[in-house]
Amino acid sequence: MTSARRSISILGSTGSIGTNTLDVLTHLDEADGFEVVALTGAGNIELLAEQAKAHRAKLAVTADESQYVALRDLMSGTGIEVAAGQTGLLEAASAEADMVMAAIVGTAGLGPTLAAAKRGADIALANKECLVSAGDLFISAVKAGGGRLLPVDSEHNAIFQVLEENQRHAIERVILTASGGPFRTFTREQMAGVTVETARAHPNWSMGLKISIDSASMFNKALEMIEAKHLFGLSPEQVEVIVHPQSIIHSMVGYADGSVLAQLGCPDMRHAIGYALHYPRRGKLPVERLDFAKLSRLDFEAPDETRFPALRLARLAMTRGGVQGAVLNGAKEVALEAFIAGELPFLAMAEITEAVMDELAQLPPATTMDDVFAADLEARHRAKAKLP
Ligand code: NAD
Ligand code: MG
Repeated sequence: MTSARRSISILGSTGSIGTNTLDVLTHLDEADGFEVVALTGAGNIELLAEQAKAHRAKLAVTADESQYVALRDLMSGTGIEVAAGQTGLLEAASAEADMVMAAIVGTAGLGPTLAAAKRGADIALANKECLVSAGDLFISAVKAGGGRLLPVDSEHNAIFQVLEENQRHAIERVILTASGGPFRTFTREQMAGVTVETARAHPNWSMGLKISIDSASMFNKALEMIEAKHLFGLSPEQVEVIVHPQSIIHSMVGYADGSVLAQLGCPDMRHAIGYALHYPRRGKLPVERLDFAKLSRLDFEAPDETRFPALRLARLAMTRGGVQGAVLNGAKEVALEAFIAGELPFLAMAEITEAVMDELAQLPPATTMDDVFAADLEARHRAKAKLP
């Protein structure tokens, strides 16, 4: 990297991670600052237009083609280019920027993030599906492109911070912390009837709708287990989960000598985002400081795979390998959308996902991205067929 000002594009700038990223950018010291190249959103074009103007982006893209004209009108006279749809997203990912923040939610983020990885951009990775669905193929694409992969999911960012590269041989395990979500103390009977409104109310983190509900079902942690396996080259047995309701320890790495290194901070995504933006240096961030005297205690509980079967499904996907990650994720996304639409009970999300995973357990491993997309599509198709 030269000493010139670095540049960044944000895929999914209008979401929770996207807006937090723009917030961190405005707080960086001049020497750490970035030029903003491309910003993308989906439905919320007013916010997208406002962001593009405020950050002097060169390109604003809406994923929603029907909003192209409206976005163009909002941007007229600004000199900011406008594009839409899948080609627009690929244009944003391909535009020359040193770093790309991958913060589109769901499988929609896969194609654009891959395009950015292939051209060698540093990838600040918030989107989980790239690793869950495409796994080693995605890692290979980043390696071939030559850019860095900087995890932004807070648990993986924490592990990245405390994983000593020169001690890789001595890594015994990684321990992902989980808040337990809003239903940590619920019985299965209580969970059976929960609504979207209660499921989305996360006790510690403020996040997008889908990831908040995935946190309540612990499918979020399931995705993170698979994500960790690929990101850090671990075996399924090396990936552990511990429930830690305060979300102060963001995750840990255990070494062969019994030492455990942890990263701690207030539950604020700007920690992980800021770490990725500053990397490899650390820099100042406008986040709350921990007051240990006020905290006074940190609690831990073993995760319960009977109430939260998503964790068991993640293990199943990791040990089966192949495209089971893509299948788990595709089926889960369909079930999640049905739950959000009020068409599926909360606990049925895991039941449908497991049934689809079992049906597609024999699919061969992916050798190309097309195989990944095919597995994802087949899983969605089968999950839809199981909806009430
Ligand atoms: P969000 O729903 O708040 O924002 C998603 C962004 O993607 C928005 O800009 C939205 O316009 C865009 N988008 C939605 N559908 C799209 C589509 N079909 N095509 C293109 N763009 C589309 O989500 P978020 O909470 O910011 O999460 C973003 C990603 O980061 C997710 O994969 C999530 O799992 C991951 N993540 C989020 C957090 C968090 O704290 N929010 C933490 C860790 C990881
Ligand atoms: Mg996380």
